[in-house]
Amino acid sequence: MSDYFEEMGWTPLAHGEAPNHLIQMARFLRDLGMWDLLGENEKLPPPASKSAVNNLEEIQIGSGETKQCPVCLKDFEAGNKAISMPCRHAFHSECILPWLEKTNSCPLCRYELPTDDEDYEIYRKEKRRAVEREKDLETLHSSMFS
Ligand SMILES: [Zn+2]
Ligand SMILES: [Zn+2]
Repeated sequence: MSDYFEEMGWTPLAHGEAPNHLIQMARFLRDLGMWDLLGENEKLPPPASKSAVNNLEEIQIGSGETKQCPVCLKDFEAGNKAISMPCRHAFHSECILPWLEKTNSCPLCRYELPTDDEDYEIYRKEKRRAVEREKDLETLHSSMFS
């Protein structure tokens, strides 16, 4: 298996680094042209909404910038255009756009773009509310016991 990873030019994980399954899947699908195999059954959030994708910032790579597209691991060349996600991660459009048609999150850090999926948006709001409730409880707890 390690030979395969080396062949694909994937960098081994640094000590203590957790594997990022999303970016590995993005690379895998890109390299093998298997976007279509990502079916409905994958446990991925729904695709990013079209308007969110259209509003993604396009950046021009300046000279002297050595940035690498995290999906294909190729360096951006000066003068090239790249898509910058709100989390400031930059990708080739041909690398990130097919991905965002499948799921709404940045394959590197899982930053989520809005989706057109109402059910999912409701679920997301609920999740956020649950986190906030937990935070409130923590604040309450620490104010009572400190
Ligand atoms: Zn790329
Ligand atoms: Zn990101």
